[in-house]
Amino acid sequence: MARGDGQLTQELDPQDQGPKDACGVFGVWAPDEDVAKLTYFGLYALQHRGQEAAGIAVGNGDNVLVYKDMGLVSQVFDETTLNTLVGHVAVGHARYSTTGANEWQNAQPTLGATPAGTVALGHNGNLTNSEELFELVRNRAGSDVGELRYGNTTDTALITALLGSYPGHTLEESAAEVFAQVRGAFSLVFCDESALYAARDPQGVRPLVLGRLEHGWVVASETAALDIVGAAFVREVEPGELIVIDAQGVRSRRFAVAERKGCLFEFVYLARPDTQISGRSVHQTRVEIGRRLAREHPVDADLVIPVPESGTPAAVGYAEESGIPYGVGLVKNSYVGRTFIQPSQTLRQLGIRLKLNPLREIVNGKRLVVVDDSIVRGNTQRALVQMLREAGAKEIHVRISSPPVKWPCFYGIDFASRSELLANEMSTDQICVSIGADSLGYVDLDALIEATTVPKPALCRACFDGIYPIEPPRTPGKNVLDKVTA
Ligand code: SF4
Repeated sequence: MARGDGQLTQELDPQDQGPKDACGVFGVWAPDEDVAKLTYFGLYALQHRGQEAAGIAVGNGDNVLVYKDMGLVSQVFDETTLNTLVGHVAVGHARYSTTGANEWQNAQPTLGATPAGTVALGHNGNLTNSEELFELVRNRAGSDVGELRYGNTTDTALITALLGSYPGHTLEESAAEVFAQVRGAFSLVFCDESALYAARDPQGVRPLVLGRLEHGWVVASETAALDIVGAAFVREVEPGELIVIDAQGVRSRRFAVAERKGCLFEFVYLARPDTQISGRSVHQTRVEIGRRLAREHPVDADLVIPVPESGTPAAVGYAEESGIPYGVGLVKNSYVGRTFIQPSQTLRQLGIRLKLNPLREIVNGKRLVVVDDSIVRGNTQRALVQMLREAGAKEIHVRISSPPVKWPCFYGIDFASRSELLANEMSTDQICVSIGADSLGYVDLDALIEATTVPKPALCRACFDGIYPIEPPRTPGKNVLDKVTA
């Protein structure tokens, strides 16, 4: 149901969307804590990963209770709702849709019956063998099972249904069996009445980390969510690992051999800057990317400005390396968030100005280096360049802290279709002309990889180089299960 919160939507122009992340997951096992509130704040820290729907499920030893709805975490939950979610174990989810439409019945955690009780599951990633898994569900349990029965068309509902389809198995045993048959990207947190579970695909495409509370344990998509609830980082959940946390402590088992292929785009854009990946903050990595960008694409200019906020650390690095002063030339409306309010045609024409506004006295008469994280369709950069020229900028040199995005992602990031990706159709010079800049430079792929300090073979770079580490789905598209279930 549409509802307003007085905020502006990020999707003022449906043709002008940046890359979309595919969800944040959070789980906590802590008998002495208010687990629902911890999960709320954990999801709040992960809101950037998914803004379409949010949900929390709580286990209290006897039952599992779930509450989920469309909207931001702060829109879905209030004090009264959270006070009804009482237990010692909880899992939470903030959703952006990759498989299955943006509808209430596809919100997570997904609930399902198992031989031993109930499971509630949240998923970050995207599966590549959903059609095969749907057949497997149909053969093992019928297609009228769990949330599939109520129109849930997500790959998450398939995993949940499969977890309940092994008679005589514990949830841990079923999970090990099921995950060995699932392909694609999946960082999962799930719970039953008493235990918390976490698992990660053999490639570890999406992040998932384990943290320690004084009297409990936390799993989360990013370390920043551990910080926010006061948990200490312990380690990553390993690719191909299943972790179970209950009154006996933490135990781990492998369901597949690890073949690490972490998402390179997490470093560029997706993860929070205060998250740690591979032992250092994403912010530090982005600053280093900016330094390399300055070495590869130097230019005579008066001021380096970021496109806030994901371009900020790379702009800092560019300024440090080039010696050109860093400044703030664009102000972002901090209260732009996702809502269900559609802008009127007049507002739509204002476009990017509702999100970003130039500081005229800073940019007027200057030769600018404008640093952004990526170009997908190019609409944003085109509008930005025009806006900065109108504000008096003398020259505009656009620098991008990722290589050209030429290929779609099948592992949980919704960029655009291949034909919509500007770099798929045009050379860098043509893109420069298309967005109206005086010059354009992208960071080189190898330089980007070096900046992460992660060895190249351990990274997925498919959206940049077209080399897919996991076989892409036979039928791509987020509505694949709408088709097979129709
Ligand atoms: S294709 Fe790109 S966005 Fe998708 S997982 Fe690989 S590196 Fe990340």
